[in-house]
Amino acid sequence: MKKESHSNLINGKWSQKGPSFLSINPSDTTDTIGSFHEATEEECLQAINSAKTAFKSWSQSELEERKKVLDKIGNELIEKSEELGELIAREEGKPIPEGIGEVYRSGQFFQYFAAEVLRQMGETAASVRPNINIEVTREPVGVIGVITPWNFPIAVAAWKIAPAIAFGNTVVLKPSEIVPASAAAFSEIMHESGLPEGVYNCIQGRGDIAGQIVTASKDIDAISFTGSVKTGNIIAQNAIKNMTRIQMEMGSKNALVILDDADIDVAIQCAINGAYFGTGQKCTASSRLIVEKGIHDKFVSKMSEATKALAVGNALHKNTQIGPVVDARQFNQNNSYLEAALSDGAKLIAGDEKINVDTEGFYMRPTLLIETSNNMKINREEVFGPIACVIKAEDYQDALSISNDTEFGLTSGIVTNSLKFANHFKRHSNSGCVMVNLPTAGTDYHVPFGGRKASSYGPREQGQYAKEFFTVVKTTYISS
Ligand code: NAD
Repeated sequence: MKKESHSNLINGKWSQKGPSFLSINPSDTTDTIGSFHEATEEECLQAINSAKTAFKSWSQSELEERKKVLDKIGNELIEKSEELGELIAREEGKPIPEGIGEVYRSGQFFQYFAAEVLRQMGETAASVRPNINIEVTREPVGVIGVITPWNFPIAVAAWKIAPAIAFGNTVVLKPSEIVPASAAAFSEIMHESGLPEGVYNCIQGRGDIAGQIVTASKDIDAISFTGSVKTGNIIAQNAIKNMTRIQMEMGSKNALVILDDADIDVAIQCAINGAYFGTGQKCTASSRLIVEKGIHDKFVSKMSEATKALAVGNALHKNTQIGPVVDARQFNQNNSYLEAALSDGAKLIAGDEKINVDTEGFYMRPTLLIETSNNMKINREEVFGPIACVIKAEDYQDALSISNDTEFGLTSGIVTNSLKFANHFKRHSNSGCVMVNLPTAGTDYHVPFGGRKASSYGPREQGQYAKEFFTVVKTTYISS
């Protein structure tokens, strides 16, 4: 199998010295996608070293060279979006159209930052002292350690690596050990793009081994991490020992508020999409559906019908809307949260229907719970699965207060026809991204993305805001 040997990319060469591990299709556990090699400590250090060496010339490289290579990577991802989208579907379990969409979007990140290469403007300022001019410019940071989760195996890497490289940094990627084939396919495109050796390196393997080496290294100048709060905490503590700059996007417990005056069809569409697409395995998923009491019963009845109608199946099959959960660990975690919710008094009104699939996989029906309160464990902690909980609210103010009553703050949404409430919510919702009459998941690639509170730490990702993290500011005083 071709991908067996393509594991770690170090200084422009494939390397595989460490123990092997398998990637298994969650839709069909008899299907092995490939065998991959964890990076050894020596390989991790080589990758960091090669990025450090490459930084000397890449940070000085010509803008046209950077622009061309980023464009090439972007175009290649878009051209290969069907092939790679299918690979993501097979390895991560999202349906093929979602996989294709992810790869296409990844290409757009590279195309966007190809153009940003040419928009690096400085500022000048008058001095408070005579005959002095001041310039404020930005410079690359150095070697960026990029640590990514499994739920968007190519897109998260793309939205971090494209700006890193565009602004003259070099990269060591440590992808999730759950999706090594997608990471290897991405690395192949990076490898063939014409980037100089060492500008992009990839080391595969476990977070507590390869990831730990990256985050503890003094030769890593900045770490851009996406993953759970638990891992974020470990990474932050490692980073602070070396005063390494960090940017972290983590989990959430996003709320979709549905008011009495909402268009019910829009509300159902937003709730189904936000709660269940991607099998609920999105940091932006709406796991809490906060519904005003006047529309509550109507919403619950229609939502339960729509939830039951979703086609759960093999991610590679044409009619599948909801693929499997990513692996056994996540499957068991979802079920233990479900059990806890039921024993706390939640009532299940969709989710126990039979699943008709002809392969062994980690299938779970989209599950709708009602009569839940915001204090229940299931409404406090991130489940990261296809489980949505309805919480009844007295009125708009009550709904707003419940939606903000969480330690997280990535996205939030409101479905309403009232400009007054939409505007108030936009202003007072304590999250990084607010959606009005739209699902809590689904964002554009040219504007900032990120959360508040425990969901996020450090500067925003994406769009023009990305330069805050991937560049350092220099202030120069010139006496004339
Ligand atoms: P995770 O935290 O388990 O792992 C993320 C990455 O960190 C993996 O590459 C893992 O190997 C690595 N890692 C684990 N332990 C480490 C350590 N000690 N040192 C260094 N690296 C280590 O998360 P996951 O299960 O892969 O992803 C799901 C989580 O990601 C959810 O919480 C989800 O909300 C979050 N997520 C957030 C966003 C966002 O933009 N906010 C986007 C996607 C996913």
